[in-house]
Amino acid sequence: MYSRRYQTEAQQEAVMESLRKGGVDGVYKDHGLLYIVPSAKVSDEPTIDALTRKMTAAFRAADDDTAFGFAGVHTCACGAQSDCTDVVLPNGTVTNTLCVHYLACHRDEVPASELEKVAQLDSGEAEPSPDEIYHPQS
Ligand SMILES: [Zn+2]
Repeated sequence: MYSRRYQTEAQQEAVMESLRKGGVDGVYKDHGLLYIVPSAKVSDEPTIDALTRKMTAAFRAADDDTAFGFAGVHTCACGAQSDCTDVVLPNGTVTNTLCVHYLACHRDEVPASELEKVAQLDSGEAEPSPDEIYHPQS
């Protein structure tokens, strides 16, 4: 059962419709953000710009109750580890706990379509913490 808490019924209904059509993969396809699999190569310095800050603010604004966890941790190819959880952002987008890391450390590999979705986030901006950036060499 895919049960997460959404802020509006319209958000929930849109996600349930994707679920009916394509299962959990359908949800990620229609509403997912930054479900990417970057290579082990990270940028020398983390990229901290408006997009990274927007992602950070939206991620922090997600309600903890919307987190959906699997057992264990998710490991990025570069070695960064995160809780293996999905969160629902205030605008109804579903993302994962490595979202800030991907933007900061794997910006070259983030598709333009994903950057566009980040640009649409409207939770303000926040400075990411080292734990959120998880730059392997920092
Ligand atoms: Zn990584």
